[in-house]
Amino acid sequence: MPVYVGVDDTDSAQGMCTTYLVTEIIRRLNFPILYGLPRLVRLNPNIPWKTRGNGALSIILGGDAQGSSVVGEISGVPVLSSRIATGVSDSLSVVNRAVRSVVEEAAMMDADNTNPGAVVSPAPVNEALYWKAVRGIVEKEEAILFAREAGAVVNEWKNGRGVIGAASALSWRGQNSTFELITYRYRHRWGTSRDINVVDVSSLSDRFPSTFNNYDRATRHPCIYPSSPCPVLYGIRGTRPEVLPEAMKTVRSEMPERWLLFETNQATDDHISVLNGSPSLFSSYVVQGTVRSYPETVRGGHVFFEMTTHEGIILLCAAFEETKDLRGIVRGLIPGDSITVWGAFKPPAGELLNGSLNIEKISVNALARRWIKKSNPVCSVCGRKMESVGRGKGYRCRKCKQRSDMPEMTEARRTVSPGIYSPTTSSRRHLSRPAEMTVQSGVACQTVTGSQ
Ligand SMILES: [Zn+2]
Repeated sequence: MPVYVGVDDTDSAQGMCTTYLVTEIIRRLNFPILYGLPRLVRLNPNIPWKTRGNGALSIILGGDAQGSSVVGEISGVPVLSSRIATGVSDSLSVVNRAVRSVVEEAAMMDADNTNPGAVVSPAPVNEALYWKAVRGIVEKEEAILFAREAGAVVNEWKNGRGVIGAASALSWRGQNSTFELITYRYRHRWGTSRDINVVDVSSLSDRFPSTFNNYDRATRHPCIYPSSPCPVLYGIRGTRPEVLPEAMKTVRSEMPERWLLFETNQATDDHISVLNGSPSLFSSYVVQGTVRSYPETVRGGHVFFEMTTHEGIILLCAAFEETKDLRGIVRGLIPGDSITVWGAFKPPAGELLNGSLNIEKISVNALARRWIKKSNPVCSVCGRKMESVGRGKGYRCRKCKQRSDMPEMTEARRTVSPGIYSPTTSSRRHLSRPAEMTVQSGVACQTVTGSQ
């Protein structure tokens, strides 16, 4: 039987990365053949107590040597993965002991918000847990029940909140997935500035069109590495796992000490559900409707407008300053425009009274027509331009005394075109499917800035 290992919440802003801890578990277990790829599972990005990125990790031990391939390298030793499962010789308790010792040695135990959890299981955890953890809020006790139901051993440290992610990572089935190859630094370099060729990063998606979110052309900011002192050198995301090791070879950088390929739920929109009725705080939705009010820019550069959903609910929508040029699209909307908004429903901030739907992606489906005055009307008798009688009193021909209420109208030119738009690359959510990857029939895909 394969053995399923889930871990979460071992890192802090001061260091470590749970993905690195997974490489340490593989090393400690003496490089077992993995069944499938290691998994990086992002959970609900809106919960207030999340660790950075809110990503949990899992690996499955017990792949068959037949048909195995290299999916990583740790300190010079290849990591193998197979699509065929056999099992492991180590018992669950031996694996559990190894996992415990790695967590105890490597986790940032002294950090206030680091509360590790590890789940070691003979079977995957019920998928229902994943959907709740990626879209809603899961209590620790509930996650433990799910883990026990699969026959798992549950380990927790401090308040043990990491158990929620650890069990949830074992409940993800990955029908919809993308991939990330993560490289790691030599230990003596941790905390020093990263030596990575930015030009190689900015041209990555030209060389490998199946990679995404590499570089923010609007802010000229590479998006493949963090600025934290963690062990990660960089990570390249893509839809085709087999090209990622090739892509890695084209990025000149300090020598990575190890690398590992992960299957992930990044860029899948799994956190988004269709809004039925009123939204719940801390959940993310896709909502169709029409623009109800002209957008207003408030202090700080945030843009707000109201929309009416197809069910008749009025929602306040927000494009925050950090979405950069997406705000230009939002500012160009007018009442009556047909739109689809993907976003998180968050509690009030500042002077807002109600929650707002914070835009992660917007599709402009159809533009309302707006008419503006072109000129005074023409007299139907003599053909001369009429004169205004006075504000709101209509027009009159000076010669024939003909009257008219309406001026000549012309259609206003719109600054927005139909299409799907994402925020600038560096302010995208891990789970958000970028506009250029969002297929919607009949709508041209475009990004505001930094097209990949
Ligand atoms: Zn006239």
